[in-house]
Amino acid sequence: MTRNINYTNVCTYRCGFCAFSKGRVAPDLRSAPYQVDLGEITRRSAEAWDRGATEVCLQGGIHPAYTGDTYLEILAAAKKGAPQIHVHAFSPLEVTHGAGTLGVSIAEYLTELKRLGLGSLPGTAAEVLDDDVRRVICPDKLTAQEWLDVVGTAHSVGLRTTSTIMYGHVDGREAWARHLLALRDLQAETGGFTEFVPLPFVADEAPIYRKGQTRRGPTFREAVLMHSVARLVLHPLIPNIQVSWVKMGTAGAAYVLNAGANDLGGTLMNETITRSAGAQHGQELAPAQMEALIEGLGRTPRLRTTLYDDAGEARRAAALAAEPLTPVTQTPVGRKTLAKAVA
Ligand code: SF4
Repeated sequence: MTRNINYTNVCTYRCGFCAFSKGRVAPDLRSAPYQVDLGEITRRSAEAWDRGATEVCLQGGIHPAYTGDTYLEILAAAKKGAPQIHVHAFSPLEVTHGAGTLGVSIAEYLTELKRLGLGSLPGTAAEVLDDDVRRVICPDKLTAQEWLDVVGTAHSVGLRTTSTIMYGHVDGREAWARHLLALRDLQAETGGFTEFVPLPFVADEAPIYRKGQTRRGPTFREAVLMHSVARLVLHPLIPNIQVSWVKMGTAGAAYVLNAGANDLGGTLMNETITRSAGAQHGQELAPAQMEALIEGLGRTPRLRTTLYDDAGEARRAAALAAEPLTPVTQTPVGRKTLAKAVA
């Protein structure tokens, strides 16, 4: 059980696939720029714990006014709401931004995050670990090697991470192979990856698709094969292959659970990034629905923690008895504030 908190959609980067970020030059704002106040992060974290969550996942755009200290404050706010909750936060891009703004090394910054209670990191911002692809879809983002270096450093200071791929745009089989082999090599060295999560490109609102520069996302067959081939390539080094119900829908996820995946991911209360890109699937899959889906396949559900331990009966009972979510509040970032921050 996890709750996603996307703490701002203001971002200085210009990833061509991203419909989530809002900056000064966003051509057709689908929703206004916002940031989530620290008090609201604390409230959402506390509410997540009350609803049976074991994890909050915090990620956001690279807000130009944010420094490494901001991420420390965000972490503290989440921990304040639920001291026992596992905070899974900050992609390699956010870690690089945080360390860079404070003038400290990646290792020093990660060590400080860990000391303050960070539990693990999402292996997002990987997209496809192939610089030819990255030059097209996210030219100003960190390179494939930089991503691997940050993740390897996280593993070396004792912080585990997930691994991801976002595929089906301008990439192809060779890039996918390079990506899987890079993950396998790093895992052989560090053992720090908990799971691999394929994320099909959701094209509808993605600027690069609307400009006609990409495919419309992977075919269903390719999506199934991404999980199956990953299982073959990464076995036994990365034991968990996760299917994203947010990206694949529940029917797609059920299919893939029979084709190499063993993990359905989290409940994701309030997922906004994929919905911004036009995915039709909801923002929460209730635990009872998840269990029914898994049992319908003749499999046995197990409620797990971020690091794949048993979540325990008390967490499961809280999850099954959860009240509906309280509506979230997001603080709009005014045009003047945003222009000042981006300038
Ligand atoms: S993918 Fe992340 S870094 Fe890239 S524009 Fe979107 S929010 Fe910013």
